[in-house]
Amino acid sequence: MESYRSEVFVEGRLEKAHSSASVTLTSPVTEEVIGSISDCDDVDIDRAVAAATNALPAWRETSLKERGQILGRIADLYEKRKDEIAELVSWQNGAVIKRSKLSNGVMPVNAYRSNSQLADTLELERFVAAVDGGSLVRREPIGVVGAIVPWNAPQVLLAGKLAPALIAGCTVVAKPSPETTLDTLLLAELFEEAGLPAGVVNFVTGGRETGMALVAHPGTDKISFTGSTLAGRMVASTCGEQLKPVTAELGGKSAAVVLDDADLDQFAASLISTCLPNTGQVCYSCTRVLAPSSRFKEVLDAVVTTLQAAPFGDPLDPNSEFGPLVTARQRERVESYIQSGLEEGALLALGGGRPKAFPVGYYVEPTVFIDVQNSMRIFREEIFGPVLVVVPYDDDAEAVRIANDSTYGLGGSIFSRDIARATAVARQIETGKIAVNASPGAPGVTTDGYKDSGFGGDDSVVAYLQTKAIALPR
Ligand code: NAD
Repeated sequence: MESYRSEVFVEGRLEKAHSSASVTLTSPVTEEVIGSISDCDDVDIDRAVAAATNALPAWRETSLKERGQILGRIADLYEKRKDEIAELVSWQNGAVIKRSKLSNGVMPVNAYRSNSQLADTLELERFVAAVDGGSLVRREPIGVVGAIVPWNAPQVLLAGKLAPALIAGCTVVAKPSPETTLDTLLLAELFEEAGLPAGVVNFVTGGRETGMALVAHPGTDKISFTGSTLAGRMVASTCGEQLKPVTAELGGKSAAVVLDDADLDQFAASLISTCLPNTGQVCYSCTRVLAPSSRFKEVLDAVVTTLQAAPFGDPLDPNSEFGPLVTARQRERVESYIQSGLEEGALLALGGGRPKAFPVGYYVEPTVFIDVQNSMRIFREEIFGPVLVVVPYDDDAEAVRIANDSTYGLGGSIFSRDIARATAVARQIETGKIAVNASPGAPGVTTDGYKDSGFGGDDSVVAYLQTKAIALPR
């Protein structure tokens, strides 16, 4: 199967892009060309932003009930096609299908559905009394939203922006990553069938330059960005110059803290979803495992044994736990981190190379480093691949210090038989999302990234509303 698409989704129609430039798509499994998509130019962005601007007055006047009904229909239609969409994502980005069926199947349905249900509870106008009269306090849609998402879990990340923006009454121009554009274009069919008015959601396609143009466009009233910290700084800087509100969900280097009373079978069972989900290509991956010195060998054995036994290979095989990395560039990046770890003096406890059984495809073995110093790049920087460090600590206070020795603060997990003790440790960790005896990826919770992991709130309807007070005479 190959797919050459040159359309954008504007004013409710899939139309040929103005730009004649394209981005080539390559299979992470076969390394062969599998298609291309348009690399949109300024004319494409102008058209999409104009469509969203024109659609805004009517959309924001629709009732919450009506918007909720449309989102509910989108959830129903998505649910019917969720496996097809998850497979299309995995075909493009190499995400193991088991994982993709969650993040590109079940979770987007939940996001559309839960936001549709806000129609019953969301209060957009209320009277606030004061001694000298009072005000009608209204929450109004912020306007035209520019939404930009990465390739690693494209559908849940996109739904996490579209669904709250739509229920709030905003219109949207969204840009997926080039690596996962085909599944986004497929949504155009669902939106039309669900009765979403033309122009309320528009898709432009392309890479970094397209994203930059969307952010800088004077017609976008808010930017919701998910991606790397490096790009997030640029996005936030442009928004800062324009005083444009921005939500930035960025990178991470989270810690899984195994306390000395932890059930290591439970830790091992949750290791992949906590520490290396999606072949380590998830923002909250806990790629720093902190192990008590008294049980260091046991924890390391649990990590190595679990990763060695994990099914590895074709991402579309329902058993696979590890697949290829998304692109040749991503594999180079991961390999350069492995090289830096070796050069800085860390030792390999597992992996470190390309698997002999898979000479074709962007595969890297699950890799574990020990003898790691906090100053090393493999401890400090986000690798975004199947690479873990296991670091010893002496007591809970030291575990907290090591976990917090990071410029990031996105996820985290604590493993312990004593929930109160684990919760006490979790309270001290500077991070937005942390779980006890589980992966931090539990759905449905709205959080902020701490430190360089972003700001502005994880996506929720509040991020798409602005407040107005109409002062009334006594
Ligand atoms: P990336 O920042 O390179 O790209 C993300 C998206 O932004 C893509 O659509 C890209 O085309 C666009 N883009 C890139 N540079 C841009 C710029 N200067 N201006 C506007 N748009 C730009 O990130 P990536 O490599 O595609 O994705 C992986 C990163 O995303 C990791 O750092 C990961 O941690 C992060 N991420 C964060 C979350 C979260 O919720 N915090 C979720 C998923 C991924």
